[in-house]
Amino acid sequence: MKAYAFDYVRAATLDEALALLERAGDGGKLVAGGQSLVPALNLRLLAPQLLIDIAHLPELRGITCDDTTIHLGAGTRHVELANSPLVAEHLPLLQMAVRHVAHAAIRNRGTLGGNLAHADPASELPACMIALEAVMLVVGPGGERRIDAADFFKGLYETALGPDEILVRISIPRSPAGARFHFNELARRAGDYAMAGLAIAMHGNSPQDMRIRPVFFGIGDRPVLARQAALCLEQAASLQDGLAAAQQALLGDLDPQDDLQADAGTRMQLAQVLLKRGLADLVAQGRG
Ligand SMILES: Cc1cc2nc3c(=O)[nH]c(=O)nc-3n(C[C@H](O)[C@H](O)[C@H](O)COP(=O)(O)OP(=O)(O)OC[C@H]3O[C@@H](n4cnc5c(N)ncnc54)[C@H](O)[C@@H]3O)c2cc1C
Repeated sequence: MKAYAFDYVRAATLDEALALLERAGDGGKLVAGGQSLVPALNLRLLAPQLLIDIAHLPELRGITCDDTTIHLGAGTRHVELANSPLVAEHLPLLQMAVRHVAHAAIRNRGTLGGNLAHADPASELPACMIALEAVMLVVGPGGERRIDAADFFKGLYETALGPDEILVRISIPRSPAGARFHFNELARRAGDYAMAGLAIAMHGNSPQDMRIRPVFFGIGDRPVLARQAALCLEQAASLQDGLAAAQQALLGDLDPQDDLQADAGTRMQLAQVLLKRGLADLVAQGRG
């Protein structure tokens, strides 16, 4: 199938892109890497009248770091995340995750901003953003808004972005020394979207100062921070001691549904297995 006919404009600046988007109203659609949008157009799931290309906006480019925060331009391509020394040093979780995103050809063009705005519930990077407590900088006709990652993903392919807003930058606090990270997903084939996945960020060692953020994806309609499971682990004498209670708590944290890939019971079991493997990895990192 071929896409319905549309007009195309490559915006040169963020202001121009915002003006075009506002003028186009419901008929306008942003395109960055095109790796999610173009398949949807070709399947005629969408029929925008105007595509506004934001792939070359200077305001969406760059990976920078200050004393407290790492800033990722929304136009950062997956391949740039994978190859960035700054990301390797400060955001190892993202580098663990991004290699699971699709295939090399898609990672060469797909962008972080497009990935987050698309909000596929089985996507890896949204879960990492919640685990890392990222903040999204969004710009629209009304000015700037900052949205916590935990509030950004609203449901199936749905975010807190307004139709006339652009995700410009993602800011992630630098992790404390000794922070540990884990990423794992279960997919039928390498490069497929996950049937279930888990991203974890943790720091501290004792029950007094330990903080852990296990975020599951591919389980529900959006990435889910498993708050009750985290509490069990934070209150236990050790991660191993907290495992059984945390696995049990997932029954309340997660609400898996049946779909073509797996039924809800299988998905819950996958989540419990992922948690067990993840904690074993974090314990091993702590020893190492
Ligand atoms: C075969 C295949 C396998 C894939 N597997 C995976 C996978 O395993 N994991 C995974 O996470 N993804 C996967 N993807 C999707 C891929 O990662 C895309 O790159 C990504 O989801 C979208 O990024 P993009 O820059 O191409 O966005 P686009 O396709 O250009 O845009 C996607 C959506 O985001 C909007 N948008 C884009 N940029 C912005 C912005 N800055 N502000 C506001 N809205 C914006 C667009 O209007 C559109 O609605 C796969 C894609 C394919 C084709």
